Amino acid sequence: MNNKTGVNKVNTIKKSSEYIMNTYAPFPIVIKDGDGVYVKDNKDNEYLDFVAGIAVNCLGYKNKSLIDNLTKQVGMITHCSNLYYNEPSIEVAEKLVKNSGLDKVFYCNSGAESVEAALKLARKYASKFKGDDCYEIITMKKSFHGRTFGAVTATGQEKYQKGLTPLLPGIKYAEFNNIDSVKEIITDKTCAIVVEPVQGEGGIVPAQKTFLEQLRKICDEKNIVLIFDEVQCGIGRLGTLFAYQTYNVKPDVVCLAKGLGAGIPIGAIIANDKVAKGFEPGDHASTFGGNMISTTAANVVIDELTNNGVLDNVNKQAAYLSGKLNELMKQFTVIKEVRGKGLMMGIELTVENRSIIQSCIDKGLLLVGAGLNVIRFVPPLVIEEKDIDKAISILSDALKEVV
Ligand SMILES: *Cc1c(COP(=O)(O)O)cnc(C)c1O
Repeated sequence: MNNKTGVNKVNTIKKSSEYIMNTYAPFPIVIKDGDGVYVKDNKDNEYLDFVAGIAVNCLGYKNKSLIDNLTKQVGMITHCSNLYYNEPSIEVAEKLVKNSGLDKVFYCNSGAESVEAALKLARKYASKFKGDDCYEIITMKKSFHGRTFGAVTATGQEKYQKGLTPLLPGIKYAEFNNIDSVKEIITDKTCAIVVEPVQGEGGIVPAQKTFLEQLRKICDEKNIVLIFDEVQCGIGRLGTLFAYQTYNVKPDVVCLAKGLGAGIPIGAIIANDKVAKGFEPGDHASTFGGNMISTTAANVVIDELTNNGVLDNVNKQAAYLSGKLNELMKQFTVIKEVRGKGLMMGIELTVENRSIIQSCIDKGLLLVGAGLNVIRFVPPLVIEEKDIDKAISILSDALKEVV
């Protein structure tokens, strides 16, 4: 049995390079199963999972409610298009609206699509209510918003844009956490400002509260649409359902994806009524958007987070994890800084992260980088103290190997 799966492992990885396009650089393990906060590879090795499919699998694995509800829905019907209504999508929209204090939901299937939807909504709103020459969008340097042409242009990092020019016109970049740099590039043509409350791919960098407050103030004064990209930091990751609730600064539009479906692809934006008026029938659409499978998953996620104590757990474990990482920093000079909020933490290293991450994998812990020098901690939101202890112990062993 072991022998056979061992052969399979080699075949799977070899076949992958033969048939899958060369856009990723995966670590050499084949994930096959998951349970709680652990995943298993095809050789039956277990790994404590502090990656959670990159901040996606917020409920861990084999969550009973998720399995039961999805199984039931798959046995009924999975998709009907937006030519008709379906109940799960309306239930989720009601929950998103009631919990957010925003007013209207648009569904899509990924983070990049949610950013696209927000950018298009902002331009539609501006063209309708402010005039056709109000189209400029300000985003932040070191941000990440996804890989479609609009989202990758909004992304303030050249490494994602190389070789793709010409990019979407009308996007300008300001310094994150520097309100003067935003003010310098605002004009009468500015229709939207996009910001991640906590920058994820850019290295786990939280926004300062005053920065978001000042953005809100400027957007109010100039009737500019304020968009928060909460694709990574939203859906409970900071200990509140939405990241902006941790900051107590409300955007006009919030972008969601990753954790919203706990592993089933779904994206969404929620907008206030004022800005949502930018869209009319025919203005934007997604064939799969709001299908019964993805919204059944989102229904479970929101219920587990808001009614089942998951948010309380995030706050409790976040304090514990942050304490442990700060202790680790005192022991290892290779750790330059501990950053983050909630269960979205990062350590910046004086060295590159890949060999340390590989060493943790060899010892049974999955971690993910954010850029070349940061190791990120985005575990399932149902993690417990004993899991954090184990992760810290493995990471500590891996750091001891760094000279
Ligand atoms: C991951 C991410 C995206 C892109 O999401 P995809 O589902 O990969 O398209 C956009 N914004 C942020 C902040 C993200 O972390």
